[in-house]
Amino acid sequence: MDDVIRSEALAGYAAETAGCVRCPLAETRSQVVFGSGNPDAELMIVGEAPGYHEDQGGLPFAGQAGELLAGLLAGIGLTPESVYLANVLKCRPPQNRDPLEAEIAACEPHLFRQIELVRPSVVATLGNFATKLLSGRSFGITRVHGQEQEVTLASTTVLLYPLYHPAAALYTPSMLRALEDDFARLPALLGHTTVTPVSRTRVEPPSDPPHRAPIEDLDPAEASGTLVGAVQLGLF
Ligand code: URA
Repeated sequence: MDDVIRSEALAGYAAETAGCVRCPLAETRSQVVFGSGNPDAELMIVGEAPGYHEDQGGLPFAGQAGELLAGLLAGIGLTPESVYLANVLKCRPPQNRDPLEAEIAACEPHLFRQIELVRPSVVATLGNFATKLLSGRSFGITRVHGQEQEVTLASTTVLLYPLYHPAAALYTPSMLRALEDDFARLPALLGHTTVTPVSRTRVEPPSDPPHRAPIEDLDPAEASGTLVGAVQLGLF
């Protein structure tokens, strides 16, 4: 399939998905948040699920976690528009609760079709839900972040690269440092030898968590109360 046809197929699939009623989230969402960015991207980034801002605006990573993600991408010479952004769930779970197994199973074909159409060489999974789904393994993100593995998804062989979720890293400095370190390896995984940062983005600490920070896989020390409300970002 050539690039134009793939891009049109992705747009067609997005239009089809806009009316999805495969799970009960269809009743509570404002709209389906399909994905955004470059249909020919080499790098696809898969998050967990839309939050309030994404549900309102229809685009993934619209809130504080998205700002952090954009800053990290800028540090390696990329932008949210140059990569492809998607989520495990295309609809917001009420109160940003964890995705349910049945919801993930119902939504999975959408993500796999996106991977099949975009055909990225690297898929970075943010947090536990995306990592477990696309690795097919139950290891948590604390154990596997920064460890790439080759996997075949929807007949596309990709390098799967698990990363901490930026929403969690916003509130946990040790995770943020690990996320920055892991991000710095992305150009090499993408086969890029030189990196021209687009700009440096400073993310102001939020006053309230914009999106529930996944904590199920924190190290015990992190889980027991070292989450902080203000972070110093040392983005590269
Ligand atoms: N916004 C998204 O689109 N996905 C996430 O996982 C978090 C925030």
